[in-house]
Formats: sequence, structure tokens, C-alpha cells
Amino acid sequence: MKVAMFSTKSYDKESFRKHNQNPSIEICFFKAALNINTVDLTKGFDAVCIFVNDEISDEMMARMHRYGVQLIALRCAGFNNVDLEAAKKYDIKVARVPAYSPESIAEHTMALILTLNRKTHKAYNRVREGNFSLRRLMGFNLHKKTVGVVGTGKIGIAFCRILQGFGCRIVASDPYESEELVQMGVQYKSLTEVFEQADIISLHCPLTDSTRHLVNAESMRLMKQGVMLINTSRGGLIKTEEIIESLKSGKIGYLGIDVYEQEENLFFKDLSDSIIQDDLILRLNSFPNGLITSHHAYFTEEAMDEITHTTLKNIESFHLEEKLLNEVT
Ligand code: NAD
Repeated sequence: MKVAMFSTKSYDKESFRKHNQNPSIEICFFKAALNINTVDLTKGFDAVCIFVNDEISDEMMARMHRYGVQLIALRCAGFNNVDLEAAKKYDIKVARVPAYSPESIAEHTMALILTLNRKTHKAYNRVREGNFSLRRLMGFNLHKKTVGVVGTGKIGIAFCRILQGFGCRIVASDPYESEELVQMGVQYKSLTEVFEQADIISLHCPLTDSTRHLVNAESMRLMKQGVMLINTSRGGLIKTEEIIESLKSGKIGYLGIDVYEQEENLFFKDLSDSIIQDDLILRLNSFPNGLITSHHAYFTEEAMDEITHTTLKNIESFHLEEKLLNEVT
């Protein structure tokens, strides 16, 4: 079984080489992302293995089908970047890693909140330069604050458990209530009520047609003045131009994002020597009350191990014609 892995970084290669014990799975590592310009690289492979910013359109799916690709193994949970209708049309199976250490993302979410609030990133730089003043480092207690959690699946639940330890009041919005969270005292509300009541809003729902630009000028009007907004889910949940306006007006008091709408041209790359052409990220980066990390919430040893294991298991199951447990349909 020949597998073409795209968007490969050194840590991916290391992890897949370490864990792939099956001699019948041969992985070819490509640094390039999979897109319309690189799709011809899939010729002769049985499967492709992709990550969050590799995009597979209908046209690419048609070509991959002609080239012999039968499986798309996502090494992530989200699958918004794959045209599933096209996959079905060309009889290409899609499998993903539905859960890998949700705590890794939940903990990073809390790291963003604590850093933005207590300004440890600024304090670190200041103290190293011999500036021991506390000016502009004032934060607020998380204890008794209302946190709005949008999406209480695996990551949302792990995040609520952390919030409970901080003594927060938790309001949540999800079409499906979690019994565990209700038992814990989490109050389910409409999305409007969550936006209206929360001091901190954290997004943990998937990116779909109905959640795209969930945070926009209109929905931000519902939010409290100076609210903290955190997004570790998918960039497309927030309308970037409109969040910039809200940061300028002070409506959004703090913004912490690990994902960004146009991240595919930026994230996971070292562009420190380049002239960055994306004006929106540069504007976002200029706010003193903003904190951007480059899609690294998932990046823990435990999560990497689980991603690698599950992806290899998906490929192996397909190869052995077993039931594909993590198939996306
Ligand atoms: P999950 O499928 O377990 O949970 C998603 C939840 O969102 C479900 O309970 C679902 O009912 C709910 N939901 C769907 N539409 C909604 C809506 N309109 N409003 C409110 N809730 C809604 O997924 P998960 O494992 O918790 O992951 C959540 C998201 O986190 C993924 O879709 C992915 O985009 C993102 N993610 C990010 C990283 C990262 O490194 N930053 C890593 C993994 C996953």
C-alpha cells in the first residue's frame, strides 16, 4: 500500500517512521501541501495522507481517482477541507482521527486565556529587560466569571472540566447537550444568550456551512463590551475583517486565536525572512490585546502519538479491507 503524505514536517516524518511497523505500508513524505498544483504527485499512490490546510476539491478528486487513489487519510479531526460529495462520487474513502487527546486543545485554550488575561508574555519580556514595573499588567480573576462555550463535543467537554477547576460559571451552546456537563452544572443556553452573558467566549464547534462566520459584526453586537474571544477551532468561524473593527472599537477586549481564516499560506511555515502579503494577519498581530498561535493547540507528544497511531490504523484497516471505523461520510 503506497501512501503519499502531504504537508510533512520533520516531526510528522519522525513520528510516522517510529510508529509504522507494517512493512506493507510504504509512506512517501512530501513537504508540499496538497492542492491543485501538486495533485499530480498522487499518481501511482493508493492513499494520500493530509493535514488541516491541504484542500481537496472536486476537480482534484477526479484526477486522484484517475491516478488510482482510493483513500484519503486525514491526520486531523476536522474534515472541512475535503469535498465529501466528490469523494463519494469518485468512490474515494475518507477517514480521519476523530479524537486525539482533546485535553491538548483544551489546555492550550486555557493557556491563551491565562496569557491574555495575566499578560505573562509581556511580563516575561519586561523582566528580562530589567523592567520590574507592573504598569498595564492588571488582569482579572477567572473565579466566578461567566465563560461561554460554543460546541461541547470532546474538546468543549475537556475545556469545561478545566473551567470548573477555576470556579467559573459555564454557559454552553450545542444542539446536543452533554449529560456529563449538565451534571457538572453547565447551563445550556441559546447561542444568543451565550453571546450576551459571557465574559469569555470560546469556540469549539466544527466549521460547517452553518457555522461559517458565526462571529461577525451582527453577533458581536450581542456580546458584552470588552469580551474575551478565543478560537482554537477553525479560522472560518470568525469573519476576520469584522473582528478587526471590533478590536479597534474596544468591543472585543481580548482576542486569542490558534486558527485563522487564511492560515494555509502562513501557518506551519517559518516566514521570518519574508515580506508577509496578508494584511489582515499583520493588522491582527498589531493589537496589544491579541494573541495568535499558529495552529499549535494540538501539538503535544500525547496527541502526536495518538494521531499517528489512529492514522496508521485507518490505512491498515483499509488495506486489509476491514471496516473503516473512522470513515467520514
Ligand atoms: P466534536 O465533534 O467532538 O464536537 C463538536 C461539537 O460541536 C459537537 O458536540 C456538535 O454538536 C457541536 N456543534 C456543531 N454545530 C454547532 C453549532 N452550530 N453551535 C454549537 N455547537 C455546535 O469535535 P471536537 O473533537 O470537540 O473538535 C472541535 C473542533 O476543534 C474541530 O471541529 C476542529 O475544527 C477543532 N480542532 C482544532 C485543533 C487545533 O489544533 N487548534 C485540533 C483539533 C480539533
